[in-house]
Amino acid sequence: MATKTKKANISKPEVKQIANGVHHQSMFDAVLARLDKATHLINLSKDVASVLRNPERQVIVSLPVKMDDGSMRVFEGFRIVHNTAIGPSKGGIRYAMDVDLDEVKALSAWMTFKCSIANIPYGGAKGGIKCDPRTLSLGELERLTKAYTVAMADVFGVDKDIPAPDMGTGKKEMAWLVDAFSKVKRHYEPGVVTGKPLTLGGSEGREAATGRGVMVAALEAMKVTGLNRKTATIAVQGFGNVGLHAARLMHQNKLKVVAISDHTAAFHNPKGIDIPNAVKHAQNNGGVLKGFKGGKEINKEDIVTLDVDVFAPCAIQNVITAANAPRIKAKIIVEGANGPTTAEADEILANKKIVVVPDVLANGGGVTVSYYEWVQNRCGDYWTEAEVAAKQDASMIKAFENVWFNAKQYKTNMRIGAYITALKRLEKAINYRGFY
Ligand code: NAD
Repeated sequence: MATKTKKANISKPEVKQIANGVHHQSMFDAVLARLDKATHLINLSKDVASVLRNPERQVIVSLPVKMDDGSMRVFEGFRIVHNTAIGPSKGGIRYAMDVDLDEVKALSAWMTFKCSIANIPYGGAKGGIKCDPRTLSLGELERLTKAYTVAMADVFGVDKDIPAPDMGTGKKEMAWLVDAFSKVKRHYEPGVVTGKPLTLGGSEGREAATGRGVMVAALEAMKVTGLNRKTATIAVQGFGNVGLHAARLMHQNKLKVVAISDHTAAFHNPKGIDIPNAVKHAQNNGGVLKGFKGGKEINKEDIVTLDVDVFAPCAIQNVITAANAPRIKAKIIVEGANGPTTAEADEILANKKIVVVPDVLANGGGVTVSYYEWVQNRCGDYWTEAEVAAKQDASMIKAFENVWFNAKQYKTNMRIGAYITALKRLEKAINYRGFY
């Protein structure tokens, strides 16, 4: 098992290429572009800005795993600790084929900003394994997750770095992680990871927390823009952990979800989609929407530009680009996914006066309830779902108000307002701690 720990190098822009030859801006460069803009607006000290431009620690591991057919495959795993000025680092683990250093770096920086905006005592990190989890058996996934945990055992720690689920991972991977970590450390350590099953110290409300936060953020955005919550139409892209619960809770709270999609299909029903039915369909069909009969099937890409009031991208990154942003009709975009909007598209949306509730605010519900899980693990006292939801909603509303206030004060959009909110707290923490 090879382990490399290296210092950040941010000078060379990395570029990702997609199949049709179009170049995407590197995700980490997109983070830096937005960071620079906020830095400039609030006159952030150069020292603090340099600290935040460079992740603290970048670990890459090779994971040899025995496959079911007897062969051996080596997977590449990453963990990046971006910043720990405010507290131990926190961030999910992603299983996907496009996981690479650039993506994990960007996601780790977003976690630092997200935790700062949510006002929780954490820094930011992110991890990932380059793999397609849908093609791996349960046994292969367990061996891969445990190999990754053992390789990262010196990075993780209840007061050091606390992982959680992200795309392609969920509570079963977190259960394997806590098992492998506890075996390495020779004592049970449930607080080392969040998003665990309830029986292993998970929190009530954690699974739906990110989707719940997306709904609360959408409601707050409707308030400030004067949209009527009873009639506003909503499209939700992605029907996984974030999208499914966002759509389900919106429907439960009498909001009108008229379009849903996943990687297999997209559906539109102007009268409103029967979301409980869609959830049932997905549960009975391998977790996917293909074959759902509760709406007209549309092109998957067309959900982005559908004629709705609110669009909630809750699937993957870079879905709102300079190519489709001019055709977007929604008045509000609530970013459930991380990085769904490219930096170029941001400018277009701002010119169209579309209110974008940025990822670092809109999907902060997940990490907020992860923090509650960690607190409950540490004090051994467990809260009800209603207690968790009440705390989470109050926290999201406060964070929304702070970001909105900063956006107005600095005459900028909510994304930069969010970065400003994050930077103000981070600057204080970094300066209090000082340098050597
Ligand atoms: P997931 O793997 O549970 O679900 C992803 C969903 O996106 C699936 O329904 C998949 O079919 C769909 N999808 C993939 N490609 C698509 C495409 N081209 N068009 C439409 N749908 C597509 O992942 P998740 O945990 O729901 O995460 C989704 C996003 O939210 C990611 O960007 C993740 O980083 C972010 N996020 C997740 C959490 C969390 O708590 N899970 C917290 C914060 C942010």
